[in-house]
Amino acid sequence: MTDRHILTAVAWPYANGPRHIGHVSGFGVPSDVFSRFHRMSGDQVLMVSGTDEHGTPITVAADAEGITPRQIADRNNRIIVDDLASLGLSYDLFTRTTTVNHRNVSQEIFLGLLKNGYVFPKTTLGAISPSTGRTLPDRYIEGTCPICGYDGARGDQCDNCGNQLDPTDLINPVSRINGETPKFVESEHYFLDLPAFARALGDWLGTRGNWRPNVLNFSVNLLEDLKPRSYTRDIDWGVPVPLDGWRDRDDKRIYVWFDAVVGYLSASIEWARRSGDPEAWRQWWQTPDADAYYFMGKDNIVFHAEIWPAQLLGYNGQGDKGGSPGSYGALNLPTEVVSSEFLTMEGRKFSSSRNVVIYVRDFLARYDADALRYFIAAAGPESQDTDFTWAEFLRRNNDELVAGWGNLVNRSVSMAAKNIGAIPTPGELTDADRALLATTSGAFAPIGDLLSRNRQKAAAAEAMRVVSEANKYLSDQAPWKLKEDPARRDTVLHTALQAIKDCNALLTPFLPHSSQKVHELLGGTGVWSAAPQIVETTDLDDGSPYPIITGDYAASQAVWASTPLPPAGTPLATPTPVFTKLDPSIVEEELRRLEEDGQGGPTDGEA
Ligand SMILES: [Zn+2]
Repeated sequence: MTDRHILTAVAWPYANGPRHIGHVSGFGVPSDVFSRFHRMSGDQVLMVSGTDEHGTPITVAADAEGITPRQIADRNNRIIVDDLASLGLSYDLFTRTTTVNHRNVSQEIFLGLLKNGYVFPKTTLGAISPSTGRTLPDRYIEGTCPICGYDGARGDQCDNCGNQLDPTDLINPVSRINGETPKFVESEHYFLDLPAFARALGDWLGTRGNWRPNVLNFSVNLLEDLKPRSYTRDIDWGVPVPLDGWRDRDDKRIYVWFDAVVGYLSASIEWARRSGDPEAWRQWWQTPDADAYYFMGKDNIVFHAEIWPAQLLGYNGQGDKGGSPGSYGALNLPTEVVSSEFLTMEGRKFSSSRNVVIYVRDFLARYDADALRYFIAAAGPESQDTDFTWAEFLRRNNDELVAGWGNLVNRSVSMAAKNIGAIPTPGELTDADRALLATTSGAFAPIGDLLSRNRQKAAAAEAMRVVSEANKYLSDQAPWKLKEDPARRDTVLHTALQAIKDCNALLTPFLPHSSQKVHELLGGTGVWSAAPQIVETTDLDDGSPYPIITGDYAASQAVWASTPLPPAGTPLATPTPVFTKLDPSIVEEELRRLEEDGQGGPTDGEA
């Protein structure tokens, strides 16, 4: 193990329904490839996230079903936990925002900001119902969006253009309860003083020259228009405002986005409490050489490159108003905001409500998790919007995984199993043997460099190039023609198997499930790359039950280096195929399914 601590902070999926492959291409697979690579390198990774369960869309869904927001959150938390674990995403802790721990940590951050003057009260106009005199929560006010003209915009957000709104922004606002025009009266809210961080955020972004250029440019541009932003909202579902006179009100809560980003910290603290060393989180958040990488889709950049860093700077006392750190002490800012672009589906924007979608669970019912992971890593929206097509998925699976990598494994292990039944004994190596082994063992440094910089597409392509070198070696050396020279045949096979062992390590971050199989085909035993586990647990503070994702990743044998095969003579069995070849007819089938589903069906909000 190195002493390097790396926080992998993965965007929090909103608990409004199952995840589709567009979601997991943005935050899921890239963060897992990154974490697995760093664990293999011996770094101390803490990968955390959870479901984001507060905010208006969940209360709207609860109203529609006649159940409580908590019931909606419980149901979708479990669905999302299943989705993410089945993809092999190796969270150290995947939790949720409705824990008591998260509430306490969110309130501590609020109080730290308040103490330093970065959160301040301000009287604004809030909506009340003229007939009852009661506060109208944001979600019960509807009107025309002032930005895009959409008719059904809500008091907090326009679902058409995605902009955050205030109820007073709406043109022709009406109450969704009884259609009356709300009355706006003075109402107190707390605001985050974003302009007070313009200089500190600018200084910080000025040191971030290694970010993806589109992410950095977007983040820098945000600084031109910083305005105070309301930290509290008129809503009854969320983290209570921890102040006398506010704590017990049922119409004021901390704004969902301002508590969701605190989740990275609260999940780290929850992980530490569960680990038996409640202070352990500090190694990732407070040591100066710890790194923190945040993974998300581009629609979330503003919250990770502006809002969350501002909350951290304010808590630390590092904005224009100065101040001192809150009771946790000063907290580290992100090292990098790693944002993906968007994945589209057969040329169309993913949309759960219009059913232009394939959910992770449906995908994995028909195809292997590693096939999806490979597509996302090799062909996903790393730095530009990218289209998912079934034809391309089929081609990547059949040409690259099955005919390229799977075939190399299969024919080499088959020949060794059939002719020797064990790892062969190598004789003296030729130049060709040494050249191949130099290629495979020499690939760890350059591919590792790409992975450490989140150039995952280039890393996957380079790993596959090394695989094709090994395939070429096998064709050139043609061990099947060496019946008369078994010593040379065994040397060639040993060389090929060693190259496969190296390639398997190079591909492990992308293909954790099949890498375990290849490990076993090469005569290995035990855990090569540990899988995440769903554990039924209870809230540390109030005892309510929920599932978490966690795992014993330190049990993995996989390391980021060339390691020797098991000793000559270790038995080898005839292999079964590592990957499943897909019939070309799946393309038409899937397109038909998309057309049929697209006629209607269940809807949920977009996240
Ligand atoms: Zn709009």
